[in-house]
Amino acid sequence: MSPLDPTDVPALLAYDRAHVWHPYTSMTDPSPVRVVESAAGVRLRLAGGQEVVDGMASWWSAVHGYAVPELDAALADQAGRMSHVMFGGLTHAPAVRLAERLVSISPDGLEHVFLADSGSVSVEVALKMALQAQRGRGRPGRSRMLTVRGGYHGDTAGCMAVCDPEGGMHSMFAGVLPQQVFADRPPAATATDAEVESWAAGVRRLAEEHAHELAGIVVEPLLQGAGGMWTYPPACLRVLREVADEHDLVLVLDEVATGLGRTGTMFACEAAGVVPDVLCLGKALTGGYLTLAAVLCTSRVAHDLSASESGVLMHGPTFMGNPLACAVALASLELLETRGWAADVARVSDGLAAGLAPLRDAAGVVDVRVLGAVGAVQLDHAVDVPRATQAALDAGVWLRPFRDLVYVMPPYVTSQADVALVCGGVAEAVTVA
Ligand code: PMP
Repeated sequence: MSPLDPTDVPALLAYDRAHVWHPYTSMTDPSPVRVVESAAGVRLRLAGGQEVVDGMASWWSAVHGYAVPELDAALADQAGRMSHVMFGGLTHAPAVRLAERLVSISPDGLEHVFLADSGSVSVEVALKMALQAQRGRGRPGRSRMLTVRGGYHGDTAGCMAVCDPEGGMHSMFAGVLPQQVFADRPPAATATDAEVESWAAGVRRLAEEHAHELAGIVVEPLLQGAGGMWTYPPACLRVLREVADEHDLVLVLDEVATGLGRTGTMFACEAAGVVPDVLCLGKALTGGYLTLAAVLCTSRVAHDLSASESGVLMHGPTFMGNPLACAVALASLELLETRGWAADVARVSDGLAAGLAPLRDAAGVVDVRVLGAVGAVQLDHAVDVPRATQAALDAGVWLRPFRDLVYVMPPYVTSQADVALVCGGVAEAVTVA
């Protein structure tokens, strides 16, 4: 059998359609895909030659865009030295230097770094940290997590159990997953103090009722991503910190999506003045080059979990601390700094706010939300994804709408003109959705 010719687009598409799964797709009713040939700057080059601005930054990750010389160089340099080596019993400069950098930029008190291999795994590790820390504190009965409706934390079993139980992503598995404790979704970012207080009262009641069985709290700070691109007030995060302190719960903040500048501060929790006990990072960590995630925790959590029965943190993936990924992550964090990520994110944010605001009055639009370099238009109906995707492509923009949302999170380096183009793509998508 001859191998598939990489330039034979119809053959690639036919094989893909028959054999290759994509995220959340079916093998019996495959959804349309396009062949992407290359990517540079903020543009994807599709088969056939069309170049489109990437409104998705490859799902939050490609914050510097593509074919980034500094990241290419870091990858090539590390590849020449050591591509991978087991992390059990061995360590290396890329991992240690990355850990040092992460500790130095993260909120004070987060001292220890677990280098995981995906966002979902980072949440699994965080859940184990919470559970093991409580066991180390002599409270083995504290095994459940308090979370909020509308959240999304990944696709593995532990993550699914803390995702929104009714939102549809994982609801069919509810019966076979650990039963967690769900508070209401936090109110909208525009909520009044009274609305925040009413939500807080519900959280406090639940925590009181379940304190004896709770290990921790896990939420996405300020922005619930895949659960609906929902933004909520910083005050809600402060309430969760207070509740965690009151009941000695481990506060886990999942910043896999929001971390590393996306919402306008390096970590979303900084905008609320909240320091978690455990912080999860992923997606943008390597600038979208390779899969890598990190879990940071306080000395107290690290100490307490060591007093659990196992005496060690019970997790150790094969690709933990992958040197290629660590080297690129280090280069990406340096680039964020040297390029001035905050000004970039502010520019993208202003452009999204200005470009998406007129859509508030468009037919079928119920809400427009912008936080940092994230914009979402919520409709009063489910989006016709194939039609909306094609309309955006015709406008020169790559989008991936879902449910009732057309949303964007472009690379931070997207120019003002390209942000305007992205907003134009969103408008076209909304019109046909
Ligand atoms: N947490 C959040 C908040 C996420 O948005 C995601 C991914 N969409 C994950 C965890 C899981 O990350 P990954 O897809 O890398 O496993």
